[in-house]
Order: sequence, then structure tokens, then C-alpha cells
Amino acid sequence: MQFTDLKTQYAALKPDIDARIQRVLDHGQYIMGPEVKELEAALATFTGARHCITVASGTEALLIALMALDLQPGDEVITTPFTFAATAETIVLAGCKPVFVDIEPDTCNIDASLIEAKITPRTKAVMPVSLYGQVADMAEINAIAARHGLAVIEDAAQSFGALYQGRRSCALSTFGATSFFPSKPLGCYGDGGALFTDDDRLAQAAREIRVHGQSARYTHTRLGVGGRMDTLQCAVVLGKLVRFEWELQRRAEIGARYQRLLAGLSGLGQVTVRPDRDSVWAQFTVMVDRRAEVQAALGAAGVPTAVHYPRPLNLQPAYAAHCCPDCCPVSSRLAEQVLSLPMSADLSEADQDGVVHALSDALAATQPSTQARARP
Ligand SMILES: *Cc1c(COP(=O)(O)O)cnc(C)c1O
Repeated sequence: MQFTDLKTQYAALKPDIDARIQRVLDHGQYIMGPEVKELEAALATFTGARHCITVASGTEALLIALMALDLQPGDEVITTPFTFAATAETIVLAGCKPVFVDIEPDTCNIDASLIEAKITPRTKAVMPVSLYGQVADMAEINAIAARHGLAVIEDAAQSFGALYQGRRSCALSTFGATSFFPSKPLGCYGDGGALFTDDDRLAQAAREIRVHGQSARYTHTRLGVGGRMDTLQCAVVLGKLVRFEWELQRRAEIGARYQRLLAGLSGLGQVTVRPDRDSVWAQFTVMVDRRAEVQAALGAAGVPTAVHYPRPLNLQPAYAAHCCPDCCPVSSRLAEQVLSLPMSADLSEADQDGVVHALSDALAATQPSTQARARP
């Protein structure tokens, strides 16, 4: 069993992906070839955003969004510490200060009710993360941002395709930034990412920043980066779009089946999905005590697992200057409990049953005080 099954996906899409790659090899426009514009148009249509700008990675998407906002050194950006490092890393790289706000214990997303207390005259933006595939509380975050004149950048690296109040992740705020890292819900075969915005001026800024700040060839109007996405990687994503809607459907079904089968296990916490949104289950993550033992037992039973993430950014040395260690107690506690189970659109029912049985046995063995009540 694989943690993320990309082999079955490739086998199903081989004719589409191979033909797409071959076409690039034939025309030879490896940088900014026709597939780049074609993918941008397809993703803008899919998300409902006015503009899509493909970029070199999800990290680059976040950095370019921040650079496009013309932030000044020392400006503050409010974000969550319960995320991959790229979120806060890009804030620091843009010369700003990350201000960490703790998370909701049931969704693991930023707790919007704690944001306003952290706003200062230096606050310029909020960067929520739509973690594990579920969009953060964007309506509330957008309302706070509007009251205080802040930009909102959704780190949608894990939520491409997710719905929130009937609209798609990435098209919900000033900028949406996603990643096409191979194991994300929509992945390429290397690094890639995309930025989304409805704002013509910000879209133009992002396009210029992507190519070293050029407004015309060798006219460097602003500071930029080398941030383009390869034509070949755009071709791979175009090939994968052929069954992306089907994959979203499968992810929803597999996620709902996990929720149902695991509901009877005591000693196990689950991520809550709010009624006005769904999850694309970039990760299917549960909470357990004595995680190392549970993970070892699952490993011995042939079930691969992962931890997203073992240490929140408020406890990471590189960000110590921006936060006191106990500023985000919920994040610190959950980082010791979260455990991600195998998840992909091609996870078979038999494999999923195997995961549930192994987890049930592991809980019974490691948490005897809370006997696993039900076996699926
Ligand atoms: C994967 C990820 C990123 C970075 O994306 P890359 O394409 O790997 O650079 C940023 N934020 C979150 C929450 C992610 O999961």
C-alpha cells in the first residue's frame, strides 16, 4: 500500500499525459510555451478567478503574492503556525514579520476569532492556510480584512478543488496560491504552482515578478524572481485535468468512508468539516495519543503514515524570534497528536479496510484504558 498512489493515476492517464508531453517535445518551447497559457485559462475557468498565473512552486506563489502587495520592511502578516514552513518562510523572505494566531482544535485551520486581537498599525495582510484540503473560515477572515484594509492570501497548496459556500478555493480572496507538488490534490511531475486573483493590477504585478520584474524584455520595472513554471509541467497538469473532477468525487467518497468507519473508535479524534464547505482530503488526518507507538504498529502492519506536521512553526528555531513558544497552545498540543493515513483518489476499498483494521488494532494495543469499542 502506498501513502499517495500516483502509479495507478498515471496508468489511467498515460495516453493523455504522454501525448501532452510529446507535443511539448515536438514544438520545443520549453519556457512559456503554449501549454502555459492553456493551463492558466483552464484553471481560471475551473476556479472562477479572473486571472491565473502559473509559477515555479507553491512556495514561489506565496512569495510572488507578497511581493506584488508592495509590503514594506517590518510590515506584519498574520498567519497560522500549524502549516508547512513555506507559509511563514515566504513572509520573512518578503521582509515582513509573521504574526502567529492559534488554530481551531477541530478543523486545524486558523481561528478567525483570534485574529483581530493581533492586528496592529503594521499589519498589512492575513495569510490563512486551507489545511488538509478544507478551506479556512474565509468569510470571517475577509470581513476582518475589509474592516482593517488588509489583503488576504489563501495558502491553498492543499485545497485546490475544494468548495467553500459554493465557490472554489483559490478564488476567495485577494490572492489564492496553490502548489502542484506531485502528492498534492492536483500535482505535476516536479515542482509547480499557481496564483489566482481577480485584481487586474495585482495580476500584472505577479506576471512581471515571475520574470525578474520585467514589464517588457530587459526592462526591469520592479524586483522579481525566476519564478516560471516549465511548459512540460503545465502539460502534465493539463493531462491530469482529464479526470480531476472524477478524482475529487472519489476523494470525497473515500474521505466520507474513513469518517464513517473510524467514527466508532474511541481514543481517536477526527478533523471536522464545516457544513458550508467540503474537503479535498489532501491529507486524511486523525488525532491519537501515544502517536509514535500507534505509527510504529501501523508501520509493522504495512500501513504507511505521515505526520503533518510534527512541530508547529512557533516551536521552530528559525521562527523563534517572531513568537514565544507557548503563544499557540492548541497548535503545540495537536502537533503531538496528528497522524495522516493513506489517501488518494485511487485508494481501494480493500486497502482502506486494511488501514481501518490496523488502526483499530493499534489503538486497542496502545490505549488499553480507552478500549477500541467497535471494529469495522
Ligand atoms: C506544499 C505546501 C506549500 C509549498 O508548496 P511547494 O510547491 O512545495 O513549494 C506551501 N504551503 C502548504 C500548506 C503546503 O502544503
